[in-house]
Amino acid sequence: MAVVRLDGVEQHVGNIFCIGRNYAAHVAELGNQQEEEPLVFLKPTSALTLSGQDIVLPAYSADVHHECELVLLIGKGGNDIPEVDALSHITGLGIGLDLTARDVQSEAKKGGKPWTKAKGFRHAACVSDFVAAESVAAGQPFTFSLQVNGAIRQRGDTSLLLFPLATIISYLSQVYGLNEGDLIYTGTPQGVAALQPGDVVQAQLDGLVTADWTVSA
Ligand code: MG
Repeated sequence: MAVVRLDGVEQHVGNIFCIGRNYAAHVAELGNQQEEEPLVFLKPTSALTLSGQDIVLPAYSADVHHECELVLLIGKGGNDIPEVDALSHITGLGIGLDLTARDVQSEAKKGGKPWTKAKGFRHAACVSDFVAAESVAAGQPFTFSLQVNGAIRQRGDTSLLLFPLATIISYLSQVYGLNEGDLIYTGTPQGVAALQPGDVVQAQLDGLVTADWTVSA
């Protein structure tokens, strides 16, 4: 059973939703076009990797990128949640890595195939512990960063999201329905790059939580 920790208490994880192409500078760095509605893909719960666990890169890829992202933990579920109520459905805030086998994804995009092998492998959904949302104003902009071997690789600021948090939650609830325990990866800023065996990775949601992983050699 897949679990995360919310203020130290284990919480079962339901669906893992991810939003792609949600920061303009990242859309540009990969040569993609901005989307007219949120671009959604899913990861299996078997991809979850909590802070402190080792990341094992898939043998079939030579180019696994880190994508550091704010991650939401949904509390009360719902369908057709209006944007004005959406932030009240967040129970936890965390920081995570949407690990992406970029070479596999590029081939899938060319062939019009799903991204699952590029985005859903074991260890592809790294996530920190979660901080209770009631202790934070969930509507505020959040800043976050990713360091690899002590050097900053990515900085994020959720005020730059193309589809803001309330829009994402409302949209997912309309199309898929949201349930307690669902996770939402909200998209990555620019600076994505490859991880190598032995890398030491630290993600930080400023003022709230940090997470650490080592890439297995
Ligand atoms: Mg991503």
